[in-house]
Amino acid sequence: MRHDVDQLLDTLAGLLRDFGQHAFDLERQEARKTRSVFDQWAQHLLTGAAAPSPQAAAGHPGLRQVFLSHRKQEQSEFQLGQDVLRDVVWMFVSSLNREVKADRVDDVVLNETLAGLESTLQTASPADLRREALATVRQVHGLLSVRRERQQREYAAIASRLEAVGSQLEVARRESTIDALTQLFNRKAFDEQLERVVALSGLGGGPSSLMIFDVDHFKQVNDTFGHPAGDAVLKAVAQTCVRTFKRKSDFVARYGGEELVVLVRDASPAEARSMAERAREAIAALEVKHDGRSLHVTASAGVATLEVQETGAAWVSRADAALYRAKHGGRNRVEA
Ligand code: GH3
Ligand code: MG
Ligand code: MG
Repeated sequence: MRHDVDQLLDTLAGLLRDFGQHAFDLERQEARKTRSVFDQWAQHLLTGAAAPSPQAAAGHPGLRQVFLSHRKQEQSEFQLGQDVLRDVVWMFVSSLNREVKADRVDDVVLNETLAGLESTLQTASPADLRREALATVRQVHGLLSVRRERQQREYAAIASRLEAVGSQLEVARRESTIDALTQLFNRKAFDEQLERVVALSGLGGGPSSLMIFDVDHFKQVNDTFGHPAGDAVLKAVAQTCVRTFKRKSDFVARYGGEELVVLVRDASPAEARSMAERAREAIAALEVKHDGRSLHVTASAGVATLEVQETGAAWVSRADAALYRAKHGGRNRVEA
């Protein structure tokens, strides 16, 4: 009998030790502490050493109480853990639902997966729930990356469409600033560019010059050879100017009628004058073929270099005054 009791105590002590070995951290007590408490209980049972808690003075019921309250604590924390897991999965499901609805993605697979997880949430055991949630996360991840790729392709398509529309707009904008006959910039574009150059030179940089070219006795060309001949001459003169003023910053426009204007930047007054001189020579050397005839014209030019604080309008009238002098000085000449 004595032998049986010893064996029983031995087993119970062993059980307590095993229990302590595999304890887990609780809110109120770390696993380490639990292990030491149950070790002490085992020691108490085997050797009669002091029991770890005051209740133990009354004997074994103390152990039962300690064990029971520990177990209850474990149970409630485990339940709490399950509830938290459920809550997290629930939050995941509902936020994903919102995203899917917001994106109006009618992804049947994704919707079915989410519905499956939702019903699992109500019924499944924690282990099943965990497994299901992980599987869903993996599947959703896969679906989302497919979707992301699809969206990127769509964005790329939209971007290239936008680019096409953008360049069409650019063409339209250019057309509204281009003179139909000469293909030079028109008066509107010149007025805008003039203001830009005036504003820019206020910020520093080299001197800017404005030239006005006016075809000499152009009315006679029309009167003698007809208006289409005059048009052909105007086109040829325009092309000559474009070829002469070919720097990126040079701006050639049709001011109106048979008058062309040129804006040159970063050129000294002397350089600007000699550029105008070169253009004048090139125009004079032109041979415009029209209706089996060879037409020749000359042009006069007025040049003015922008002064500090000068307005665009004042700059234009100084160039115009220089042109007037060129005309009165005998035409086919440049005045600055
Ligand atoms: P000046 O040497 O003093 O400049 O004499 P001009 O004959 O060139 O000057 P005027 O201003 O008397 O005549 C300009 C002419 O240019 C009158 C107009 O019919 C003609 N003209 C204006 N625009 C066009 C056009 O687009 N095509 C043609 N063919 N002629 C035009
Ligand atoms: Mg004129
Ligand atoms: Mg003229």
